Amino acid sequence: TFNQPNIDTTIKRRKTRPVKVGDVTIGGSSPVVVQSMINEDTLDIDASVAAIRRLHEIGCEIVRVTVPSIAHAKALAEIKQKLIKTYRDVPLVADIHHNGMKIALEVAKHIEKVRINPGLYVFEKPDANRTEYTSAEFDEIGDKIRETLEPLVISLRDQGKAMRIGVNHGSLAERMLFTYGDTPEGMVESALEFIRICESLDFRNIVISMKASRVPVMLAAYRLMAKRMDDLGMDYPLHLGVTEAGDGEYGRIKSTAGIATLLAEGIGDTIRVSLTEAPEKEIPVCYSILQALGMRKTMVEYVACPSCGRTLFNLEEVLHKVREATKHLTGLDIAVMGCIVNGPGEMADADYGYVGKNPGYISLYRGREEIKKVPEDRGVKELINLIKADGRWVDP
Ligand code: SF4
Repeated sequence: TFNQPNIDTTIKRRKTRPVKVGDVTIGGSSPVVVQSMINEDTLDIDASVAAIRRLHEIGCEIVRVTVPSIAHAKALAEIKQKLIKTYRDVPLVADIHHNGMKIALEVAKHIEKVRINPGLYVFEKPDANRTEYTSAEFDEIGDKIRETLEPLVISLRDQGKAMRIGVNHGSLAERMLFTYGDTPEGMVESALEFIRICESLDFRNIVISMKASRVPVMLAAYRLMAKRMDDLGMDYPLHLGVTEAGDGEYGRIKSTAGIATLLAEGIGDTIRVSLTEAPEKEIPVCYSILQALGMRKTMVEYVACPSCGRTLFNLEEVLHKVREATKHLTGLDIAVMGCIVNGPGEMADADYGYVGKNPGYISLYRGREEIKKVPEDRGVKELINLIKADGRWVDP
């Protein structure tokens, strides 16, 4: 036997302050929060209420809604009331897409969090010949941004509500672009400028995002932001996402490459997977990422071998059957293995194992202990019986 050092494999998250968004908390000791955004027209109250409810029922804990005009802000107030009356009070975020302070001030009265994009606070006069900003010009625009932002910050502060400072790589303000370049540094400086305005008004219910559609850019921006905040003694939670990730398998892989890489480094407190698909499709991807990293366990964890020439049954088919029979259980690990070639340790210490024994027979395991050998055609049924006998079964 080896004397193996005890390596702690849990992910250590960067310490962040808790930011409350209705009854959900982002950061602090809360689990990583799952969120998404509806794609209905906000003016269509009933469709928006239904979409928010659909998302919330499948595990979307905070729902974002676009608010491009005052009419949309008022519609969101109605949506909120209707949700409370017909379903429940779902934490909502209003996405303010441009320098729409009046809209933001109106909507802040009705929902829990406002998302702004610093890149859209544009006070620069269009000038095709300009190639730089003097520091005086830079600061002058900074003062205008402060003046504009102040009433919203004060309103959110006084109501105990939250703000996301959502920087996007694709929409940096010109003076940031000219001064810091189209780079993660430019994104970080852009966020810091807004954070400082909030802090000067004693408002700290802030969440930061640094999204980009290219994963390496997004990774660099979030890492730099986390480092700069740590160096500055700031502990704001981070909202992770890869923008415009696309659809299908590649969209999921691209989102996972960005989000999971950062989470594994301890960076990130809330996530959104942006797919060019129905928003409901994003939620299982979020939970799968969190489950795979051991950060939230919301479904059965299946451990299965890839199968090979030694496989004693149709592994794909059996895994499918086992999953169909047990997927409603939570908190269990179930292994399906073609054979026991290297011993039960290969099952990654699953709670139960379904393992090829001899042709036509499988063995059922509880942990590392072989419980019984049964004909393969009774395998799934006997697995269920074993889980039932252990008192770990619930009916679907
Ligand atoms: Fe092949 Fe057995 Fe390994 Fe599965 S567990 S891949 S069947 S050797």
